[in-house]
Amino acid sequence: MKNAQKPMVFFKGTDVVILAILLLCSVLAGWLPLRSKGTQAVIAMGGITLAVVDLEQEQPALQIAGAEGFVFCVADGAISVTEAPCEAKICCKSHRIDAAGQSIVCLPCQLTVLVTEAHTDSIPLPDAVIG
Ligand SMILES: [Zn+2]
Repeated sequence: MKNAQKPMVFFKGTDVVILAILLLCSVLAGWLPLRSKGTQAVIAMGGITLAVVDLEQEQPALQIAGAEGFVFCVADGAISVTEAPCEAKICCKSHRIDAAGQSIVCLPCQLTVLVTEAHTDSIPLPDAVIG
């Protein structure tokens, strides 16, 4: 048997099309539910809600009681973390979020910022924080 020298063809024409469709589907499935614009942000620490922030109200340097050291920026219907007491500052580097379901998490401080639509009774916060 001598088939080891046969050149491997990883992608045939149809494979590329199928891959593209699969990729598109996964992107759509992942992003469509997040595309509805959020109207408020729930700021929580250790799973306890500290504040619900109206994203329609501009607040360039928002500070929340219970989240000392954090500064949030609410502008153009989006929220971002501009200052944080953690060392890595990954939360500060997170992009601003404005779509329902999107979140910014600060693992060292167990802080979560979750954008929701108004009048949601249940807030899908993570059950556990790993790290
Ligand atoms: Zn952080």
